[in-house]
Formats: sequence, C-alpha cells, structure tokens
Amino acid sequence: MKKIFKFLLYIPGEILGFLWRFFWSLLKTALIIALVVLCLVWYSSNSNSQFAQSFKGAFSNISSHLSSDKDLGKDIERLATDAGSHTEGARWSNNSATVYIASSNSTLASAYQEALLAWNNTGAFTFNLINDKDAADIILDDRSDSSSQAAGEAQSTTDALSNRINHVDVYLNSYYLLDDAYGYTYERIVNTAEHELGHAIGLEHNDSETSVMQSAGSYYAIQQTDIVAVQKLYAN
Ligand SMILES: [Zn+2]
Repeated sequence: MKKIFKFLLYIPGEILGFLWRFFWSLLKTALIIALVVLCLVWYSSNSNSQFAQSFKGAFSNISSHLSSDKDLGKDIERLATDAGSHTEGARWSNNSATVYIASSNSTLASAYQEALLAWNNTGAFTFNLINDKDAADIILDDRSDSSSQAAGEAQSTTDALSNRINHVDVYLNSYYLLDDAYGYTYERIVNTAEHELGHAIGLEHNDSETSVMQSAGSYYAIQQTDIVAVQKLYAN
C-alpha cells in the first residue's frame, strides 16, 4: 500500500520539481539580461564613444516604439533637430551670404528674423536679407512633413572641388514646431532656426558641449563655442 502511494506521489513531484527548476532558470536569465541592459544604459549615458552613442540611439528607438501615443510629447522633447548631412569643412568663400525668407507663416518668419539677427550680432558671420528670391544664397522656408523625424533641415549645395557652399535651402518643419502637442516654445523655434542657419554657415553638430548645434532638443541658442567654431571655419 505504502509503495503504491509513494509511486502515485512520484509523478506530480517530478512535474512540480521540473516546473520549479524551469521558472527559476527563467528568472535568473531575466535578471542577468536586465543587469546587462542596465549596465549598457549606464555606460551609454556616461560615455561619448561611438559604440555608446549608437547604443543610445538604438535604445531611444526601442523606447520610443514601446511608448504609446500619449507619451509622444515626452519623446519629442529630444526630437532630432535634423539629420545634419553636409560636406565636412564646407563653407562660403567669405563670412557673409544673402538670405531670402520664403516662409509665409508669421511665427516661423519672425523666428527666422530673430535667428538671423542673433547670428549677425555675433560678428562672426553676416546674413544680408534681400527681397529677390532668385538672387539669394540661402532660402529660408517651411514645410509640414510628418514622415521626417526632424524639426528642421538645411540642404547645402557644395562645389566638390573647392568645398565652397553655393546655395542652401533651409526648412523649418511646421508639423512639429507649430503643433502644441510637441511642446515647442517660441524660444525653441528660434533656437531651431539658429541651428539650421549654423548648418547654412557650415557648422557641424556638436553634442559634446552646450551648443546651438546639439543634434536634438533645440534647447540652446548660439553659445560662445559656436561663435568660436564659425571664426575658426572662416579664419583664412
Ligand atoms: Zn543639425
């Protein structure tokens, strides 16, 4: 009798034992993965190495996919100002260019005007506003582009031989900048315009310090470091 009873208990005991081991190993694996991810997140936010930056990018992509539409406003706090694609070291032949404001939106047009004035006040580069669109070196316009992940764009045409900029088309993306859901203050719109004008001058992104050329967020206006960068670019 005892033997039969023991045998009957043996099978569920084995199953329970197996399940216990299975869940325990699952928990251990999850703990290890969580630890590794935490270490990588810590590393990427404390290091400027290329690997760290690319991990950071991948991680923010993942987290933006995971968050719901309700959180869009939060994600967009670090929305890319633009993709920043232009030839390295490219610049105008001297530190001035003519500009035409094509944007008919009053908010964006006045943000452009403020940004032009801010750059002119640095003395490092001079933008001359003109009324002839065809004669302008730089055209400042806007468009509404929901497929773009950027708040602005600066498309430069550069002479390949001399590495001198011939023409720049700047766009501010009204889809993000003028929709309250994305939380852009007027100040940040002006910062975005200053950033795009920085590209139009020939500046690259600068994510290593407080700079108008930070690639995301548009939180900073023109800084001393940006003025120095323009002076360096046009030094000879
Ligand atoms: Zn940029």
